[in-house]
Amino acid sequence: MHILTKKSRTWQQDLANVVTDPATLLTMLDLNPALYQEDIKARRLFPMRVPRSFIELMQKGNPQDPLLKQVLPLSQEFKQHPQFMLDPLQEHQTAIQGLLHKYESRVLLMLRTGCAVNCRYCFRRHFPYAENKLNQEALNEAIAYIRARPTINEVILSGGDPLMATDEHLEKLINTLISIPHLTRLRIHSRLPVVLPKRLTDTLAQHLTSSRLKTILVLHINHPQEISEALQQNLKQYQAQGITLLNQAVLLQGINNSSSTLIELSEKLFQAGLLPYYLHLLDPVQGAAHFNVSRQEALALMQIIRAKLPGFLVPKLVQELPEQASKTPVFA
Ligand SMILES: *Cc1c(COP(=O)(O)O)cnc(C)c1O
Ligand code: SF4
Repeated sequence: MHILTKKSRTWQQDLANVVTDPATLLTMLDLNPALYQEDIKARRLFPMRVPRSFIELMQKGNPQDPLLKQVLPLSQEFKQHPQFMLDPLQEHQTAIQGLLHKYESRVLLMLRTGCAVNCRYCFRRHFPYAENKLNQEALNEAIAYIRARPTINEVILSGGDPLMATDEHLEKLINTLISIPHLTRLRIHSRLPVVLPKRLTDTLAQHLTSSRLKTILVLHINHPQEISEALQQNLKQYQAQGITLLNQAVLLQGINNSSSTLIELSEKLFQAGLLPYYLHLLDPVQGAAHFNVSRQEALALMQIIRAKLPGFLVPKLVQELPEQASKTPVFA
């Protein structure tokens, strides 16, 4: 057995070494766990999970750190709110396990269970991953479904987090997708590279660019502080290889609901080679009501950022409504 240096550890090893104990996280940040006793209990509702590379981006001694607030359990999560549901999008009802087909041209494959980080506001925090795991049989069914429908030209890999899958697994899947002639695009929605930049391996880039499919990587970054040097370095490689890079963010109370933060986010995303795509209103999931930003406030923020940013750096403000077939743009 040999001791691996920090640099040579693989992303899987870092993943096995995430921080799951809130008291440990608080101590690492020079915050006193004794002051958070009630809050820590909320981990029962949804486990805490934070990679160390994400913790390194947090400011020590700052209980209001915008990254910390996204991952730390809080007693407010116990508050029941009549409009906040267990399954706000009613995603459960699908014909094939792990496959969502809302739009004619694209399907969403929920590839893998779980995430590298558990975001407290996540609309999937009550999602029964174990029952919805896309096993080989369901995957075969999903592939047959796509193959039989020529109107589908894009497959979107989502999760949990699809990049929790290994490069080998993704390679196999991409090879299968290439064999479906009407597919032209592959899109991956992931937060993993943000919290663990080394997930952007050279091997993955090769798999993504060696196929005839145009590849789009949509990251999930909510705050400029999440854009680390390491992430920027790795994204540069991906961009240079022709992978389109986009970002989606969620508008979160006390984290990014200020025009200056949103402007800085767009500017920094562009510097890192990403274009802002969507800004989501929070999905009304139980336990996350304290993150909610009203529609009215969101629209006021959009008005300010639209006046200050070039059009291509203004994300589309959208909302997922269970009864609607698509994401609904939010207008005044
Ligand atoms: C969001 C979503 C998509 C992708 O929508 P775009 O507007 O193309 O980004 C596709 N399928 C499902 C089920 C979705 O929820
Ligand atoms: S990474 Fe995405 S899916 Fe996973 S917990 Fe965070 S918001 Fe939810």
